[in-house]
Amino acid sequence: MIPFRKNLIDGEWVGDAGSRNINPSNLDDVVGEYASGRAEQARQAIAAAKAAFPAWSRSGLLARHAVLRKASDEITARKDEIGRALAREEGKTLVEGIGETVRAAQIFDFFAGETLRLSGELVPSVRPGVGVEITREAVGVVGIITPWNFPIAIPAWKIAPALAYGNTIVFKPAELVPESAWTIVDILHRAGLPKGVLNLVMGKGSVVGQAMLDSPDLNAITFTGSVGTGKRVAAASVEHMRKFQLEMGGKNPLVVLDDADLGVAVDCAINGAYFSTGQRCTASSRLVVTDGIHDRFVDAMKDRLGKLVVGDALDAKTQIGPVVDQSQLKQDEDYIAIGRQEGADLAFGGERLDRDTRGFYLQPALFTQATNAMRISREEIFGPVANVIRVKDYDEALAVANDTPFGLTSGICTASLKHATHFKRNSEAGMVMVNLPTAGVDFHVPFGGRKGSSYGPREQGRYAAEFYTTVKTAYTFAG
Ligand code: NAD
Repeated sequence: MIPFRKNLIDGEWVGDAGSRNINPSNLDDVVGEYASGRAEQARQAIAAAKAAFPAWSRSGLLARHAVLRKASDEITARKDEIGRALAREEGKTLVEGIGETVRAAQIFDFFAGETLRLSGELVPSVRPGVGVEITREAVGVVGIITPWNFPIAIPAWKIAPALAYGNTIVFKPAELVPESAWTIVDILHRAGLPKGVLNLVMGKGSVVGQAMLDSPDLNAITFTGSVGTGKRVAAASVEHMRKFQLEMGGKNPLVVLDDADLGVAVDCAINGAYFSTGQRCTASSRLVVTDGIHDRFVDAMKDRLGKLVVGDALDAKTQIGPVVDQSQLKQDEDYIAIGRQEGADLAFGGERLDRDTRGFYLQPALFTQATNAMRISREEIFGPVANVIRVKDYDEALAVANDTPFGLTSGICTASLKHATHFKRNSEAGMVMVNLPTAGVDFHVPFGGRKGSSYGPREQGRYAAEFYTTVKTAYTFAG
């Protein structure tokens, strides 16, 4: 039987009409049916969150700690089942789906601890007899808008700190991955959140998301998604003078120098460019390779690509799952055609694959002889497509790596301490990796980028407090 999942507004599950969620590995498999929220429901959810805020923001720390710990424990206990559902609805492999679920549990655990660690400062005033306290308070009602590519980890890294620091929430997940979103909200609701503290409004971005942007009662919006939608979030937030935070696209470079360990470099490139079907904002989509290792690197990449198993996400043997949906597949194929027209050489893959079930299967693609000026090197494709850009030396590699409108992650494969150190200092990215893939980060340290990739304070780790709290400076004259 196909489950029908409703929205959670003011502690009640509501919704009548819904839309179907299809498994991208098997288009005949319906994952579930999900309530499609209306603008009016978004407004009701915001009103409920506003009403719940005073009590929740003053609730005992242990109440928040307990909810977050319980959520972490339940997600951990159900990791295989939740990870499988995630892989079924989004198309990443079982290993990746379970790994992402474990990560969500770790994030809730981390922020359970953070509820007890929020501190302030007590400083002397320049005026004798006056004391100054600097404290952090919850921001208010936080709107959370998330993309489809990390269906449980991204909601977790926004919901957990929002709750930990005493905010209330209206959460609007991406249309393609409602099951993961519903599951996390169901777990938190049953963990004992008071009504109105966490509201879920599934539905269209243009309807539910837009109603959130238009509301004067959201005090902050945290958004992860495309640059185009991010700009709308920014413009609407400025209009309402609200706090906002954006995590958007990437065109992340992985530099491979002559002195790199070839095996390490190929592992980093295969993982970074193609795992999760290349659908990661941190994907290594530009492989910037110096002359001396270029040909060996390309040959080794083609060899490894030929051995990758592309198939049904739920099959344990699969290493690369399907593309998430028809429109993303079209975008990938369009860019592959653009790359060929631009004069890059399609050295491997790029064609549709048939499997036992109807699904969006694409052979991972590698372009060589790409330049950094080509559209395939400048625009985010968001699929299993990477370009090798040949450069003469480290200096040119660094210049090419930084020549991009984005700045989320970057990486370098080298045995040279000098070049690694210089790259860490001079790469214009928010996260820099040495002899590691550009994708794959820890859950307890800051996450975010520069330039067109990000706006506002970093997410995750203790730095999350910058966004989810606001600073108050209080002066006391004791007489
Ligand atoms: P998207 O911008 O299409 O959608 C993101 C969210 O915004 C969805 O929930 C969508 O419904 C909502 N939305 C759409 N129109 C809206 C509107 N008018 N008002 C309010 N909300 C609206 O992005 P996507 O296709 O879901 O995700 C892919 C993008 O996300 C890629 O560009 C990727 O790089 C980016 N991403 C970035 C990070 C990061 O941390 N930097 C992480 C993951 C994904």
